[in-house]
Amino acid sequence: MISFMDLKAQHRPLEDELIEAVSKVIKSCAFVLGPEVAAFESEFAAFSKASHCVASNTGTSALHLALLAAGIGPGDEVITVPHTFVATVSAIRYTGATPVLVDIEPRSFTMDPALVEKAITPKTKAILPVHLYGQMADMDPIVQIAKKHGLFLLEDACQAHGAEYKGKRAGSIGDAAAFSFYPGKNLGACGEGGGTTTNREELAKTMRMLRDWGQDRKYNHLLEGYNYRMDGMQGACLRVKLRHLEEWTEGRRRVADRYKAALGGDARFRLPEELPERRHVWHIYALRVADRDTFMKWMLERGIQTGIHYPTPVHLQPAFKALGYEKGSFPVSEKAAAEVVSLPMFPELTEEDQNKVIAALKEAPGVV
Ligand SMILES: *Cc1c(COP(=O)(O)O)cnc(C)c1O
Repeated sequence: MISFMDLKAQHRPLEDELIEAVSKVIKSCAFVLGPEVAAFESEFAAFSKASHCVASNTGTSALHLALLAAGIGPGDEVITVPHTFVATVSAIRYTGATPVLVDIEPRSFTMDPALVEKAITPKTKAILPVHLYGQMADMDPIVQIAKKHGLFLLEDACQAHGAEYKGKRAGSIGDAAAFSFYPGKNLGACGEGGGTTTNREELAKTMRMLRDWGQDRKYNHLLEGYNYRMDGMQGACLRVKLRHLEEWTEGRRRVADRYKAALGGDARFRLPEELPERRHVWHIYALRVADRDTFMKWMLERGIQTGIHYPTPVHLQPAFKALGYEKGSFPVSEKAAAEVVSLPMFPELTEEDQNKVIAALKEAPGVV
C-alpha cells in the first residue's frame, strides 16, 4: 500500500534525537512552556522571518489568540473563506464574532481578493485568508484592502510553513499568522502544537498573557485568559524537526515536480498549480477530477491511498447552519469541494512508489 502520507518514514531517522530531546525535558521537569519552548519560539520566528512567535497547544488556539489579542469579539465580523478546515471558522466563532465568508479563486484555492471589499461592513474588524494546501493567498491586494479599511490581517498559515509570496514568508506579512504543528502538518509535533507569529511586539505580549491565564507574572491576572500553553516536550521535538523542514519542503517540491513532469502535458489531468512569484510547500497535492468516487476506488484497488481536503465547504456543514448560507452561496468553493482529490505527498515518497502512482493515474477512469 502506498499511503497518502507516512509519518513513520519521517520519524525513523530522527528517533534517537527525538528520544534524547524528550528525555532532556523529563530530566529537567520543564513540562509546560520552559526553555525548550522559548528556544523553539525564537527559531520558528526566525524561520518565518517574523519578529515573534508565541507557541500554543494547537493551531486553533493560535488563531483564537491572535483574534483575541486584536480585540475581536461579539458584534464584530471577520472575513474568511468556506474552502478550509473548520478550525478557521471556529476560531472566529470562539471570540463571539461573526464569520463572513467570501469565495475562493479556482486556480489557487485561496481567498478571491476581488470579493473581499464587497463583504466589508461597518462591523468588519479583520480579514483571515487561508494559505491552503501550502500555497499563500494573493496577499498584495488583501494587504491593500486591510490597510485601506483599517482591518486586522490574520494569515491562517496552518498548512504553509515556509511558503512564500513575492519573496516574503508565510507568517511575516499579516499583523499575525497562525501555524499548526499537528503531527501531519509540514512541521508536526509529537502530539498537538501551534504558534502565532507577529512583527508587533505589543500583540505578542498580549498573546503570551492570553495563552497563560492572562498573567503577566504568576497570579497577577491582567486579562481573562486561557490555558493554551505548549508542552515542553513538544517544544523540544519541534526544535529537532525544524532543523529538517527546509530539506523536507524541497522533498515535497521534488515530488510535485515529478507529478507535473509526468502528467502536466496531458489534457486529461487538472493538476494543482504553483502560481507565479509563490513558493508552494505542497502540504497537499490536490488534483481535480470529474468522478471522484470512481477515481479513488480505482486508485485504492491498485494499493494507492488518496484523500479529500475537504469534501464539504464549511458553510454547508450542519454545525455551521447558523451562519445563514445555503447551497449555491459559494459556487467556486462548492465545485472545488466536489472535485478535489489529494495524491500521496510527503518528502520520503520514493521515485519508485511515485512512478506506481503515476502509472495508475494515467489509466484511471473518472479523471476529466
Ligand atoms: C490544521 C489546521 C488548523 C487547525 O490546527 P490544529 O493544530 O489542528 O488546531 C486550522 N486551519 C487550517 C487551514 C488547518 O489546516
